[in-house]
Amino acid sequence: MRTVKAWAAPSATEPLSPTTIERRDLGEHDVLIEIAYAGICHSDIHTARSEWGEAPYPLVVGHEIAGTVAEVGSAVTSHAVGDRVGVGCLVNSCGECDACKAGNQQYCPQQIGTYAATDRDGTVTQGGYSTHVVVTEDFVLRIPDGLELDVAAPLLCAGITTWSPLRRWHVGEGTKVAVVGLGGLGHMGVQLAVALGAEVTVLSQSLKKQEDGLAFGAVDYRATSDEETFTDLRGKFDLILNTVSAKLPMKKYLSMLAPEGTVVNVGGPVEPFEVPAFSLIMGGKSLAGSNIGGIPETQEMLDFCAEKGIGAKIEVIPAEKVNEAWDRVVASDVRYRFVIDAATI
Ligand code: NAP
Ligand code: ZN
Repeated sequence: MRTVKAWAAPSATEPLSPTTIERRDLGEHDVLIEIAYAGICHSDIHTARSEWGEAPYPLVVGHEIAGTVAEVGSAVTSHAVGDRVGVGCLVNSCGECDACKAGNQQYCPQQIGTYAATDRDGTVTQGGYSTHVVVTEDFVLRIPDGLELDVAAPLLCAGITTWSPLRRWHVGEGTKVAVVGLGGLGHMGVQLAVALGAEVTVLSQSLKKQEDGLAFGAVDYRATSDEETFTDLRGKFDLILNTVSAKLPMKKYLSMLAPEGTVVNVGGPVEPFEVPAFSLIMGGKSLAGSNIGGIPETQEMLDFCAEKGIGAKIEVIPAEKVNEAWDRVVASDVRYRFVIDAATI
């Protein structure tokens, strides 16, 4: 075991504070990563505040991890000391079920999340707001040379969570896409959909971030506080990617779909959506969900981002600012991802 520094939530209601945690000794397929940056995902906040069910405490969250390999187990072949690597939301899965064989580890019934999950040795997994992490080699991604570690960290969750549905719904040249919510996920969704060739509209609560949205490549930017947005854009989109962390009036969003269009939801509000039957029936529309993405498609997304020069737009913070950053995320006051400098942990 090795003792490493981390910032943990002591309970659902207390602020995060500095502590130490144990990382396991390297097994033969394990990789020890010295963390350089950890992104702050809204899921960290939902989880640590027990909004999605009672979390185990004390809990270290963080599943947007970028760093360098510090040590490898005796049988590791895919990574070497000094390699630039990342870890996302998963640290293990069964490897044998149909989902794992297809590279869809995010559907494996025995998947192990990067934090708040029970690991194979019975301990609770602890995430990336820490200086080091030990992960089995198959769940460690390569960060291509063209990507800096700080802007790459958020790709490990915000990047893959928006990339996966864009690919699954075949977004490309000529597809009309709307991205709802211009936060951490949303700003990646816009950049990725634009790079895939889609015509992208941002649907945000206000026009405050319009200039940024257009700079990310959107052709249109509308405020959802303005009722005219919904009438103007009625029947327009092939795909609406909803990244909002709060409950939305789903009927109004479904009305903006073209026939046979899909609203794919990735946001995780606590309250359920209300979906009138006829808002799906008329127009043959779909409401779908999407959960992060598999390991191979995460690598594909990282390589695509390096090739296209896409990264997250970040604000790097020292660990002592993490509680303030969380408050700002909850208030939709983030442009567009906070990233913790792990050297300050
Ligand atoms: P974020 O940075 O806080 O972005 C969410 C955005 O939603 C905000 O920036 C804001 O955008 C909009 N928003 C927030 N409250 C709203 C409200 N009451 N009404 C309307 N719009 C509102 O969060 P994130 O890290 O991108 O995560 C977004 C959601 O996705 C979270 O619930 C998170 O848990 C979930 N998530 C899911 C997956 C998955 O695999 N499915 C993966 C990661 C995260 P505007 O200011 O532009 O309106
Ligand atoms: Zn996340």
